[in-house]
Amino acid sequence: MARSGSIWHLKKQAGGYATLTLNVPGQAQNTLGRAVLDQFSAFLDEIEKAPPKALFLRSGKPSGFMAGADIEEISRTDPEDLKSLIDQGHAALNRLEALSCPTVAIIHGTCLGGGLEVALACDHRVADTSASFGFPEIQLGLHPGLGGTFRLPQAIEPSGALQLMLTGRTINARKANEMGLVRDAVPQRHLEAAAHAAAETGKAQKERGFIAGIRRTLEMSGPGRQYIASRARKETAKRFSEAHYPAPYALIDLFEDESEKEKVLAAEARSFVELSQTRTARNLIGLFTRQEALKRQARLSDGHGISHVHVIGAGTMGADIAMWTAMQGFSVTLQDIDTSVIAKAMGRAHEWMDGKHDRSDDIRDPMDRLIPDPKGDGIRSADLIIEAGPEKEEIKQKIYEGLTDRMKPDALLATNTSSIRLETLAEKLPDPACFVGLHFFNPVTKMPLVEIVSGEKTSKKTRERALAFIEAIDKLPLPVKSAPGFLVNRILTPYLLAAITLIDEGYKPEEVDAAAEAFGMQQGPVEVADTVGLDICLEVGRVLSQALEHVPEPPERLIAKTDAGNLGKKTGEGFYTWQDGKPQKDDVDPDAQTLETLQARLLTPLIDEVRRVLDEKIVASHDHLDLGAVFGSGFAPFRGGPCTYSRQQEEVSTEPAPESTENSEA
Ligand code: NAD
Repeated sequence: MARSGSIWHLKKQAGGYATLTLNVPGQAQNTLGRAVLDQFSAFLDEIEKAPPKALFLRSGKPSGFMAGADIEEISRTDPEDLKSLIDQGHAALNRLEALSCPTVAIIHGTCLGGGLEVALACDHRVADTSASFGFPEIQLGLHPGLGGTFRLPQAIEPSGALQLMLTGRTINARKANEMGLVRDAVPQRHLEAAAHAAAETGKAQKERGFIAGIRRTLEMSGPGRQYIASRARKETAKRFSEAHYPAPYALIDLFEDESEKEKVLAAEARSFVELSQTRTARNLIGLFTRQEALKRQARLSDGHGISHVHVIGAGTMGADIAMWTAMQGFSVTLQDIDTSVIAKAMGRAHEWMDGKHDRSDDIRDPMDRLIPDPKGDGIRSADLIIEAGPEKEEIKQKIYEGLTDRMKPDALLATNTSSIRLETLAEKLPDPACFVGLHFFNPVTKMPLVEIVSGEKTSKKTRERALAFIEAIDKLPLPVKSAPGFLVNRILTPYLLAAITLIDEGYKPEEVDAAAEAFGMQQGPVEVADTVGLDICLEVGRVLSQALEHVPEPPERLIAKTDAGNLGKKTGEGFYTWQDGKPQKDDVDPDAQTLETLQARLLTPLIDEVRRVLDEKIVASHDHLDLGAVFGSGFAPFRGGPCTYSRQQEEVSTEPAPESTENSEA
């Protein structure tokens, strides 16, 4: 049965079973908001009056079960209404849990956040192998708010439950099955049978093996919880300060509390509402919604028309771009003048994919799609050619000369150049309209941003196809104008150069990094420079100082280190000595005054550059600038990006009274 404007659909089936299907109209994915809960409660009235033999809960969307709570609705809702919404959600899930008939969540695709909380309130969960599970709330400055903090530690090993919520990571169906989060993880064709088999077992019974049972009792006891919580607090403190990121600490507090369900749910609701009002949550949610908007804009209704990608240059960048693209479902041919480099790239791809998956047959398909191509046979059939050759104008132009009579007429040509003008590279191209910059960052597998650089002659269609392609490979496509350093290197360089100047003045690299990290940067600038490579920093610094009057020559110390071959992480020696991929740092404890001075010296050039970049319209908006800075340069995420930070600083400075804590509302 469906109601008018129906979101849920209740269908009675032969044998006395019933299925309640969620299909939120007008959305590609189901999200949980007030309308969904209202209608859910109404259907529960009906089900409670005449319970079926078993109730199945599923989604009518191909994309998955449920993507989570409607985060835009949460950010619009005032605290009182939010509290009542959560109370309503708790009441509905308690009623679902208390139904007299067995309930089974039948899960495919994404089952995240609020979606997983609905599934946890069912007696059983069965999933097909496409399903993925997780609680991403922590990444938005929140924690689960619909009973997840109580029900997850009940459903699986408590310490594993806390870790899943604290990291916000997503797990696949097989892992969920191993952890006991789902009863079965089966191929799609067996899902119905698995659901019926689960229903036949009746209401949920917490059956555990003897050892698992004892372990659970210990972990759920007061001292057990305290032990797990104190370890989790220590680990969290290594990564996030409580003043900047209060949510993980609030979550650990909830976990530690051994009260009964009603009390935990009430505490969870209070804590969720409090967190939702912090500046951190607002800024993180703001980043998330702006990121989603950018991705939405990038999608093309008639597609990007790219299925085969040819990558030229299998070095640091080309190898990873090829591997990442193959992982995302594209056919990729990989060319280099040096066949041993291709062989190394293939080996690295295999190793990386192997590490990503728990079973080796998962990596067979992407490895089949990644084809070594020393002669460049793939050029003729490629829809997109990505050049990642050395950063030398003549070499790049020579590569393009060899392409022109072999490329398909509608194929795109992209360069990964960091510093050469697109207009210069395009000079001899017969069709510069199809030429675009795709500026990936290093390491490609970790950095979410790709700058889409339009030159003077890049056509609108080329730019749009490039944006859509980058979105399709699960990266964040940021459109930028062709200008020295584009966006990210342009704003990052003055900040990195300021850090090196401070070292010239006698500060220790550790002090400079500590100041930036205390501000909330994901990595200190000296460590960033060493990681990127001091030769690359020097090259970008020179390009910018030649092109832009206000950028000074790179500092002597940077030139000296580069001349001596001390290039940072890749040579084992830079500003730091590197061992096993980690910088060896001395302990430092700068006082508050020093931190403040260093932060001002580092941030002022960055914020000044941001203003210039906006004036020059290198990016389209403040939103784009913030996204580029956070996802491309590691600017403190909880501050929402440099534009949001500057605006909030101005708001604070015009306030009548000073803030009492970092996170209180402006
Ligand atoms: P790299 O030196 O590691 O790789 C370049 C590869 O190109 C080498 O394997 C080389 O053998 C190959 N090559 C040279 N001439 C060729 C030709 N004619 N045909 C085919 N292959 C040829 O360089 P990289 O660090 O991967 O940089 C590649 C590009 O990416 C550069 O434009 C660089 O500015 C840009 N980039 C680099 C980084 C970084 O951190 N390394 C970050 C962003 C962008």
